Amino acid sequence: MKKGYDIVIIGGGIIGCSIAFELSKRGVKDILLVEKRFLTAGATGRCGAGIRQQWGAELNASIALESTHILEHLEEYTGYDHSIELHQGGYLLVAYTDKEWAQFQKNLEVQHKLGIESVGLTPRECLDIVPYLNLDGVVGGTFCQKDGHANPFHSTQAYAKGAMRQGVDIETFCEVTGFRTSNRAITAVETTKGIVETKMVINCANTRAPELAAMVGDDIPVYSERHQALVTEPVEPLIDCMVMSFSRSYYVQQTPHGSFVMGIGPKEEPSHNFHSSWQFLEQNCAIMCEALPILRKLNVVRQWAGQYDMSPDRHPVIDEADTCKNFYSVCGFSGHGFMVAPRIAILMANYLTGQKDSIDITKSAKKDLRPGISLSNLLLYNCI
Ligand SMILES: Cc1cc2nc3c(=O)[nH]c(=O)nc-3n(C[C@H](O)[C@H](O)[C@H](O)COP(=O)(O)OP(=O)(O)OC[C@H]3O[C@@H](n4cnc5c(N)ncnc54)[C@H](O)[C@@H]3O)c2cc1C
Repeated sequence: MKKGYDIVIIGGGIIGCSIAFELSKRGVKDILLVEKRFLTAGATGRCGAGIRQQWGAELNASIALESTHILEHLEEYTGYDHSIELHQGGYLLVAYTDKEWAQFQKNLEVQHKLGIESVGLTPRECLDIVPYLNLDGVVGGTFCQKDGHANPFHSTQAYAKGAMRQGVDIETFCEVTGFRTSNRAITAVETTKGIVETKMVINCANTRAPELAAMVGDDIPVYSERHQALVTEPVEPLIDCMVMSFSRSYYVQQTPHGSFVMGIGPKEEPSHNFHSSWQFLEQNCAIMCEALPILRKLNVVRQWAGQYDMSPDRHPVIDEADTCKNFYSVCGFSGHGFMVAPRIAILMANYLTGQKDSIDITKSAKKDLRPGISLSNLLLYNCI
């Protein structure tokens, strides 16, 4: 680590590493990425790593579509010598209420406009895709074969190693503890390994991003929410796609290794709690075994907890602090940052290097989300 860099990126998850890669790909050389533990120590290494293009808002769907295109050849794109284990077995989204089904019809229209190959299914047709699905209460479903999942550790390493080859320095076990400013502009970052002079900070610290932004007086309405997941013993291939429900709040997929990874999404109090709970194990198993009774036969081998960085409208925040020039935060992914990271990184790198981008983030701004809070106008808020 040198004494100074043009840019310091905070956070060694998929967001920080992909932005480091895209910036260095555009010729920005003098970049340091600092991570307080190891790469993927945060949400990225704890996520389900599902990738879906089946969104209801056009901007979200197009960001997810373009991200999928990049993930389809990420190894070549970043020069990574290992597979990121992308498996495009599809996502089956199950509707259990008429309201949900009606929304799915509208979503399909949006997706088809963008060329996303999703289809609407009757309950019987859902069964053709997942023969083990319990059809009780199922009103219909949608399916997109190009959706799937990848290995989040390899995906992050692909970006990180590519960035390092392009000249980025990565310092792990180095925590950012404060900032130095002059005339409302960033001048240095204080870390547990010393002070690093810099002209720009990109804060990709996920659920810790708001407290880092607060150190320069910026107020980001993102909070941390615990979400848990578990993995079963490996068994023979049973289900090729991700199965997911919004109204019953579950997702489940079988990994290439044969184990099932799954989670549910009960609303929890804001916290940085990383502990697993018995309540999750019980609720998760009840919900999942109702949806897919074949899972009753499987043994759970491990469960873990991670954090969602929740934003008010559940969509990403890209923000330049109005209290401190050149202090950017990229957070608020609300549980789907892995699947949109490739395109968000391009968007951010294009913006910072003055290159044109088909998405104008300044136009997506939505101000005054909470009484008394006015965010700066470099902000991406997509309505659902
Ligand atoms: C259980 C679970 C399931 C999920 N499933 C999916 C899914 O299927 N699909 C999907 O797209 N997304 C999913 N997500 C969400 C996804 O994991 C996140 O949106 C994404 O990984 C965010 O990446 P990130 O780089 O912003 O954050 P992180 O990976 O958390 O990286 C931030 C890093 O910042 C570091 N850091 C924090 N403070 C400091 C500091 N002061 N100094 C230095 N470093 C610091 C942390 O150690 C951390 O490594 C899931 C999340 C969870 C928890």
